[in-house]
Amino acid sequence: GTTGTTAATEPEFAGLTAIVTGGGAGIGAATIRALQSRGATTAALDLDPSGAPEGSLQIQVDVTDSEAVHTAVNRAAAELGGIDIVINNAGIGAQGQVDANDDAEWARVLDVNVVSVARVTNAALPHLRRSSAPAVVNTASIASMLGLPERVLYSASKGAVQAMTLAMAADWVGEGIRVNAVVPGTANTPWIGRLMEKAADPVAERAALNARQPHGRLVEPEEVAEAHCYLASPRNRSTTGVLLPIDGGMTNL
Ligand code: NAD
Repeated sequence: GTTGTTAATEPEFAGLTAIVTGGGAGIGAATIRALQSRGATTAALDLDPSGAPEGSLQIQVDVTDSEAVHTAVNRAAAELGGIDIVINNAGIGAQGQVDANDDAEWARVLDVNVVSVARVTNAALPHLRRSSAPAVVNTASIASMLGLPERVLYSASKGAVQAMTLAMAADWVGEGIRVNAVVPGTANTPWIGRLMEKAADPVAERAALNARQPHGRLVEPEEVAEAHCYLASPRNRSTTGVLLPIDGGMTNL
């Protein structure tokens, strides 16, 4: 909106811009839809951004490629008119006990899930410093809270995301850049769909997965998107250094 008389009813994210890594599918795409519906303009930074919601800028980029990330972030800033919100959400899985993954797999998963959070945030930092409502929201996972079996590498990567969230929040609390993380439980995204399809009996596997959740079902990506929006919101300026579980009670019950 442009007139003072409508200010009270302006959408929550009116005039704000967000970049969402992994915005081409699953939780990231749901977060883009939620931000758009509240008035934000958005860019999806993804290996395959074609699945990003309509109306979002789609930028093809591998978050492990430093030069490409800087180019993508600066392009988003130029086309959107700045960057107020960074949603670090791109991530990949890894299965198995500690002997399951070789050094190359450790390097790859940590690069995508951990180093990219620093890389994308660094690239966006000059833009965040010019913002009137800067916020970074990272996507962690309950995997690092619970000691889930067969998840050593993935859990390590998401534990690092939590630690980085707190450390960055501490560094920037004085200058007003908020940093928080959502901690999703098992969510109903293409990722989990792919895992189910690999099972001998996908229907039974899905039922078993639902039964393992305290609230009896998977978390919907739209529910994680709500948390991304809450943590990114210019209405929640006192919320920083928070790790917010969206997990049907899995972490704390
Ligand atoms: P998804 O696989 O459905 O979507 C992830 C998106 O990220 C895809 O569009 C993919 O192309 C993109 N991506 C992957 N690697 C990339 C790279 N190197 N560069 C750019 N883009 C890349 O996954 P999702 O389930 O929506 O997961 C999103 C985030 O949520 C991840 O960080 C994941 O670890 C986390 N998470 C998911 C669950 C779950 O159960 N689905 C639970 C907890 C946390």
